[in-house]
Amino acid sequence: MNRYLRLSPHCSLKRLEKPYIYDIKNDELYEIDDKAEEFIKSCDGTSSFSIKGQDREFIDLCIKENLLQISEIPIIPNLQSSIFNLKSPIPSLRYLELQLTARCNLSCRHCYLGKPKNIELNLDSVRKILKEFEDVQGLRLIISGGEPMLYSNFWEFNNFLPEYNFRKVLLTSGWFLGKKEALKLNVNEVQVSLDGLEDGHDTLRGKGSYKRAINAIKYVKEAGIDLSIATMVHQYNLNDFQKMSDLFNSYNVREWGIDVPLQTGNLKSAKDFIVSPEKGGEYLKFAYGGSYHGGSEGYVCGRHICTIMPNGKVCKCGFYEDRPLGNIEEGLKNCWERNYHMPLKDLQCHDCIYIKECQGGCRFRADTSTSPDPVMCALYKGTV
Ligand code: SF4
Ligand code: SF4
Repeated sequence: MNRYLRLSPHCSLKRLEKPYIYDIKNDELYEIDDKAEEFIKSCDGTSSFSIKGQDREFIDLCIKENLLQISEIPIIPNLQSSIFNLKSPIPSLRYLELQLTARCNLSCRHCYLGKPKNIELNLDSVRKILKEFEDVQGLRLIISGGEPMLYSNFWEFNNFLPEYNFRKVLLTSGWFLGKKEALKLNVNEVQVSLDGLEDGHDTLRGKGSYKRAINAIKYVKEAGIDLSIATMVHQYNLNDFQKMSDLFNSYNVREWGIDVPLQTGNLKSAKDFIVSPEKGGEYLKFAYGGSYHGGSEGYVCGRHICTIMPNGKVCKCGFYEDRPLGNIEEGLKNCWERNYHMPLKDLQCHDCIYIKECQGGCRFRADTSTSPDPVMCALYKGTV
């Protein structure tokens, strides 16, 4: 008997360096071959197949993983089919950090952006950026700021997010994220910044901010949105990591990103918060999940990511605002294609035994563009 097949609504075909099915909901990327790609394109929900005539094993796997849906009657096509024939640039731009606004209600002592400013992207530019990111086959939009929930058009922006065919991740302090707001969010994941237990966190971010963050975490969980956490290592949270780890396990946290803040922005005048790379690097072992800043395919960090600043500059990442790739008015793809990707072989430490895992760490944190990243040396080698 013939059956109707379609790509599941939470999945998308992505033409990156190779063809993939991207499970947006679960953030899983499945590599497929050209033949499978053509087959998936034909699974439009309205054409019927004799399953016997197809690669049964492949179809069974797709159905088991909920990548394909099967029906005895025609089904509405996956709306993403309109962009099935587009391709990414090489290297692909998979992750886009969108800094909607430079406004923020807090003045965190470590913030690399310095004092908050009243600068924002306008909503028309944001719409254009989202479409361009979808067209280059983007996987994950990282919505940040400043505090993105202070963006003047935040809820209008939130309302049109479902139109776009990539995963959406909101980075927030949680200050403005109440129960009502969590239920309205159209994102797949919220990453809350939590920089210690109550004393450690509030010392860095301001009194009352820990309670707000913990409440936000609960509301995110209740709303059924994936939760991740970002933590900065500083002098006042060094004894908190094991307890934080236990707490995050109880919340089933998807990713825990831990970093040692760079000595720039506000941290230049908050020296008592600074930990040495040797000490800070040790705490990175608590982290799990997420490695989208990293290098790959033999190149240093930032192989598949870039950042758009609130003033419209497109940069390698937020630390490179003084060396932008261009302005968003020139087009995201054009700016991305100007990005220089340094091969690992050009690093001074290219023959380090950890180069495959470490990929030279963070280029901004290293003293020069080719020298080792001291935090990563501490993590991998226990020395700087
Ligand atoms: S320089 Fe650092 S912050 Fe920027 S992309 Fe590389 S790892 Fe990320
Ligand atoms: S551990 Fe240090 S020396 Fe080794 S690859 Fe990483 S940054 Fe380079």
